Amino acid sequence: AESPEASVKPKRCLELPGDEGRMAVSLASDLEDALATQKHIFLEYQPQVDLRTGRIFGAEALLRWQHPFLGRVAPPIVVALADDIEEIDRLGLHVLSLACRQRKRWRDVLPDDFVIAVNVSPKQLMNREFYRNVVDILDREHLPPSLLELEITESTMLLPDIEAIENLKNLRKIGVKVALDDFGMGHTSLHYLRELPLDTVKIDRSLADVSPGSVNEHIVKSIAELSGTLNLSLVVEGVENERQLSRLSALGCGRFQGYFFSRPLSADVCLEFVLAANRENRFAA
Ligand code: C2E
Ligand code: MG
Ligand code: MG
Ligand code: MG
Repeated sequence: AESPEASVKPKRCLELPGDEGRMAVSLASDLEDALATQKHIFLEYQPQVDLRTGRIFGAEALLRWQHPFLGRVAPPIVVALADDIEEIDRLGLHVLSLACRQRKRWRDVLPDDFVIAVNVSPKQLMNREFYRNVVDILDREHLPPSLLELEITESTMLLPDIEAIENLKNLRKIGVKVALDDFGMGHTSLHYLRELPLDTVKIDRSLADVSPGSVNEHIVKSIAELSGTLNLSLVVEGVENERQLSRLSALGCGRFQGYFFSRPLSADVCLEFVLAANRENRFAA
């Protein structure tokens, strides 16, 4: 089945009656409105499971924009749009605040070390103020830094950017975790593993399909070994079925995120899911 957000493709938005330019302008101003009113923008949370401990150890916060008449707009579109209208910092900080606030609300009900992961776009990371802004949000929301993980994606802009690396280094110094998202596709290079200050590597979901003898199998096995050597936590994204899961486990992967375990959920449903799964030892070997 298709996810709800997958049904609103960027093309569909732009192909609506009216010329493309007008549509783009209106989407941009709708996003401005949504940011100003803080309505229609919210987060869903997708649990992350460690099969070695049988526990759900964290959740990734995912941006949702429920457009008043277009329905859900896919997050990469929202991010690109925010980029275009120079609102990426505002959007990004709003997302961070929401995620930190939610994690704080869960303080007494979730395990002490349950981490909330938040996606950060390269542009945000390259802003000199980013470190200060994150510290301010953690202070404001009274959240221990070690409960926040920032997910960054490999990007051609990122590596030469001194500001981005400084921001990450300073954030890690105070205990914030850093994950490299979508590893194994796009601009992937081992260079990133060496140059970026990291805690976690997330294998892209295009690699979750590891049939025996496939190239994917070799790639995933190598990444699993390498992450072990480099002392990085490894998470595989996009696990959709048991077959994928057992093959990935055999290759040395222990932590997973994907529809097989759970789709992204509203905060309340996510909490219920985590509590029930941990109570029932649902994912214990
Ligand atoms: P991502 O960070 O790699 O997040 C994982 C995406 O894969 C999510 O899509 C999630 O719903 C989807 N997914 C999870 N498990 C499965 C599975 O088993 N099968 C399939 N087919 N998909 C699965 P979503 O929520 O549509 O987000 C797409 C991308 O948008 C994210 O990819 C991330 O790059 C970006 N994004 C989302 N929220 C934010 C945000 O707050 N800020 C920024 N800068 N980017 C965001
Ligand atoms: Mg991510
Ligand atoms: Mg990813
Ligand atoms: Mg992605």
